[in-house]
Amino acid sequence: MKRVYNFSAGPSMLPEKVLRTAADEMLDYHGSGQSVMEMSHRSKVYDGIIKETESLLREVMNIPDNYKVLFLQGGASSQFAMVPLNLMTGSGKADFVLTGQWATKAYKEAARYGEANVVASSKDKTFSYIPKLDPSTFTKDADYFHICLNNTIYGTKWNTLPETGNVPLVADISSCILSEPIDVSRFGLLYAGAQKNMGPAGLTVVIIREDLIGHAKDFTPTMFNYQTHADNDSMFNTPPCYAIYICKLVLDWIKNDIGGLEKMKEFNEKKAKILYDFLDSSKLFKGTVVPEDRSLMNIPFVTGSEELDAKFVKEAAAHDFVNIKGHRSVGGMRASVYNAMPIEGVEKLVAFMKEFEAANL
Ligand SMILES: *Cc1c(COP(=O)(O)O)cnc(C)c1O
Repeated sequence: MKRVYNFSAGPSMLPEKVLRTAADEMLDYHGSGQSVMEMSHRSKVYDGIIKETESLLREVMNIPDNYKVLFLQGGASSQFAMVPLNLMTGSGKADFVLTGQWATKAYKEAARYGEANVVASSKDKTFSYIPKLDPSTFTKDADYFHICLNNTIYGTKWNTLPETGNVPLVADISSCILSEPIDVSRFGLLYAGAQKNMGPAGLTVVIIREDLIGHAKDFTPTMFNYQTHADNDSMFNTPPCYAIYICKLVLDWIKNDIGGLEKMKEFNEKKAKILYDFLDSSKLFKGTVVPEDRSLMNIPFVTGSEELDAKFVKEAAAHDFVNIKGHRSVGGMRASVYNAMPIEGVEKLVAFMKEFEAANL
């Protein structure tokens, strides 16, 4: 059997233990005589799986009781519409900070349903930093304030949250959920596609403060109304059963093998530091993000020559470091080092980068 180091921005690596458990349980889940893939979502066995997934997520993320956890589909991209349909219903206004492509998509979609305001943007420097905010420019009566907490494509993350007072802070946390502790009580709503740090594609998790449920615009499709899913414990229709089950295994791994999110953070910081330290000392490679806003999960870098970048990506793949090409909008390289990437994956990548540097400088 061969396993490569997969630096993909998503779908991404899963912990080997999770994959092995899933393989062991594939044909007969806990004596049920069925695969989780085959089970009725209304069965007692499956009810146990989804309930345990939610309780593990609540425990690992320390989610307060006045928040609902929803297991949905449609990806983080559907949330770009679902959030305004459900929340942009008071003043009909919302504020956005444009820190990359996903944040911009959330803004553009919201602009179809109400007054979407851009309070800051880092587009002027290819989103290589998190802009400083001036709270006097925030919309006082906004229904929500939207940020993308970790910018997957550009490799930046928010280290200090905007102070939005009574305006609910909403964050896309697709590429940083479960990578370090988050104070959920600072937010009105958090959402994430699962395929970066939680499990396979097909599951989208929404964590929403209860008082924000129940105010959707009247033309909101039933499936796009948070109330529908909150009232039915994410069982209004068939949930993404198997993806939820894998998410349960991932959460179990974080809780019991890693030891929780503080430990996960230490592990991720150690891992990212290996690559950032090398980038800061290299004569060939350099990181593209200002040091104070660097992501722990997505690390873009360049050589300065498109030709050398392409050569590096090709040779890296031949050495089983796969999916390290940068996003088409940035070029260069990007190493996504989510929770499941082992430290040795980054150590070996850096060793390979050193060899490449020596051969090409
Ligand atoms: C991957 C990603 C998305 C898109 O997620 P889908 O589940 O494919 O819709 C949105 N936002 C961020 C921050 C992402 O990393």
